[in-house]
This record gives sequence, structure tokens and C-alpha cells, in this order.
Amino acid sequence: MPRLEARMLLQHFTGLTHAQILTHGQQRLPEKQWAALQQAAAKRQRGEPMAYILGEREFYGRRFEVTPDVLIPRPETEHLVDAALSRLPPNGALWDLGTGSGAIAVTLACERPDAHIWASDVSANALTIAKRNADAFQATITLGWGSWFDANPRPQAHSLDVLISNPPYIESQDHHLQQGDLRFEPRHALTDFADGLSAIRTIIAQAPCFLKSAGWLMLEHGFDQGRAVRAAMEQQGFQHVQTQQDWANLDRLTLGQMA
Ligand code: GLN
Repeated sequence: MPRLEARMLLQHFTGLTHAQILTHGQQRLPEKQWAALQQAAAKRQRGEPMAYILGEREFYGRRFEVTPDVLIPRPETEHLVDAALSRLPPNGALWDLGTGSGAIAVTLACERPDAHIWASDVSANALTIAKRNADAFQATITLGWGSWFDANPRPQAHSLDVLISNPPYIESQDHHLQQGDLRFEPRHALTDFADGLSAIRTIIAQAPCFLKSAGWLMLEHGFDQGRAVRAAMEQQGFQHVQTQQDWANLDRLTLGQMA
């Protein structure tokens, strides 16, 4: 196990700081802590993601609770948050489709308390986690349960300034699904069980019903999907369609504006 991960587990299960671990290296751990630590180390050896073992992951400077019911928030998705922050008008309305842990919606509500933020998910278990994260940061978001636009409650037609989503976009046959953290994450949050673009197409097709004129649709997608997503948005009549890159300089999100 990498040293950093071992230290993270040790700190988590003992409550000791890094400095205390260094200065109390010879100290015996209480039986219970030792057992918990051994169990956690065994999970990690089996490949379980650190985020699920620790029950948390940092996103945009805040610590979010995560469980195997939700996708682990990724640093790339912070670009999506930045794109929304730069385009959401004062007192704007935004809907995060497929919110999972609520990382995007809760972050935006914290950064922009003036905004009205909606967040929905098809998974009731995910909504429980999103609610806990919203409560932890005293963020006001309206949660809806249901698949994509069928969520209840949901915003009214043509009421949104921004529609945002990090949908499942991995192709069903992609070998990455058999690797690393992805093996342990909810499958329906990663893949559409098809060509990787079906959820994206559904969102693009129905987004115009919910956006105001001049409202923005912004979607995260795979590094090789930029062209297809731009084409779909343009075909749907979106203007100023553009793809932005992540820190690795890979195509990561595409946005377009309603006429
Ligand atoms: N970015 C994630 C990954 O490739 C996938 C997230 C998603 O499908 N929305 O690991």
C-alpha cells in the first residue's frame, strides 16, 4: 500500500494528526482502532476506493460524504462548476441532472447563495447522500427524484439559466469499467450501457424545454466525445457551442447557449 494511503487510513481510524503519528510512533493502538484499521487496509488491498473506505472525498475545497451509492467526485468536474459560476446570472436558476453525491449542486449553492439550485437523481439512495451533503454545508437546494427530466419536483418549463450534468458517458464495452475505482462505483452512474452518448443525447434533446432563452447547457463528457457532443448541441439549435479542456488538456466539457 502506498505510504500516503497508509497514513490517511491511520489518521482516519485513530483521529491522530500526521504530527502525532510521527511523534507517537511507538504507541499501541486501542484494540478497536487496530481492528478497524486492519479491516480498512484489507478492503484497500482488495481494490476498494479510498473515498469509500474513508467515506469522503474533497471537491472544490469541501469534504463531501460519499458511499458506494454515488460516483466519487472527480477533480475534472470542478471545471464544470467553474463554467457554471461564470455564466450563472445574479439570482439565477440552475438544475443539476444526475447529482449523485450532490458535489456540483451543493458547491454551486455554497458559492452562490443567491441562486436557486435544483438537483435530481434516479437513485433514492444517492438523493439521501446529496441531502446529507447539502445539510452539512447548510446549502439550500431543491432535490427531485426521477430519471433525467422526469424528476419530481422539477423546475418549470423555460425557467432555467443553466442546465448542468455530469452524466454516465462511458461506453459499455470500455475496459476502464473493469479497472481501479470504477469497478466499485455504481455502474449506472458511469455508463449508459450503450455507446456512451445516449444520456447526453437525451439531455440535449429535452434541455430546450427547460432553459430560458440565452440559457446555457453544460455537459461533462469523455475525452473523445467533444465532436459528437458539439454536433448534437448544434443540431438541436444551440449557439456558441464550445468544448473546454481539463487540466490534462483533454476535451472534458461542452457548452451551448439557447437562442
Ligand atoms: N470521469 C469519470 C471517469 O472516467 C466518469 C464519470 C462519468 O461517467 N460521468 O472515471
